Amino acid sequence: MKYIFITCHGHSGSTLLSKLLSLHPEGLNVGEVKHFAAYYAKNDPCGCGLALQSCPFWASVLENGHFPTPLSEESFPVEGVRRHIWANYFYFLTLFSWPGLYRWLSQFPFTLQAINRRNAQNHWKLIQATSVASGKSLIIDKSMAISRYQEILLTRPEGVDFLLVHLVRDGRANMYSYMKRFAQAPEKAAAKWRKTNRKIETAKYFSSNQNILELRYEDLIANPEQVCQDIFSQIGLNYEVQLDDLSLAFDHSIGGNDDKLVGYQKIRLDQRWEDQLSEEELAIFKKTAGKLNKKYGYH
Ligand SMILES: [Zn+2]
Repeated sequence: MKYIFITCHGHSGSTLLSKLLSLHPEGLNVGEVKHFAAYYAKNDPCGCGLALQSCPFWASVLENGHFPTPLSEESFPVEGVRRHIWANYFYFLTLFSWPGLYRWLSQFPFTLQAINRRNAQNHWKLIQATSVASGKSLIIDKSMAISRYQEILLTRPEGVDFLLVHLVRDGRANMYSYMKRFAQAPEKAAAKWRKTNRKIETAKYFSSNQNILELRYEDLIANPEQVCQDIFSQIGLNYEVQLDDLSLAFDHSIGGNDDKLVGYQKIRLDQRWEDQLSEEELAIFKKTAGKLNKKYGYH
């Protein structure tokens, strides 16, 4: 099995990327699978448009994977378990920097390491069951959080080819998007973009940048075919995506029933931030996150 995990800050184009990658004949986009238990319990829409509990694909995954019912956090992936701030800090330190200590602590029940390790194993179990149920060998997971990536990296089964795709978007466009969508203050939106990408950079540093591909959203929009081909070749596949096929990007993704992509005909770059952000807001961004933005080549 080949497995692509997409990590990024929100509103960076991960839905589009996951759908494009799923155009590979062996590709299956499972969306934000880390939310499986929560979204299934709420009976949210599946990427196919049906409610999750009515979707025949997920019914076959649950049946063939011999998952216990009812769903519980003992047997299904859920959001990472965290505690108070210092415990979390120590947890992240072991997760990213001391995998040996992480594994050792995960032997003891009730440690954060043990609980999240079980969670990561459940994540894998569900991923493998989706591969079996669909007959597809390339799974695309856009669970996004870098901590989840690290947790599943440390518990990965034998024989899985692995690629982390770090998708990054111009922080100013991202700030504008969060200001518009969630009425966030520019300082807060910029700081969040910086925090997520810094965390991802830390994780990349500690994994010696192995099996990692950094990708700019703007480059994806400018040349989607080439970008997808590069990603596929990095994971040992040779395939040219035909964008005329975008309507075929049908999937059963978790949290993937995104209206924005329904009837998606043309891939366009959204540059509204250039006209809409004031000088003052741009100055706030520069002060908060300008340095990191430059590192990604945004000037
Ligand atoms: Zn479905």
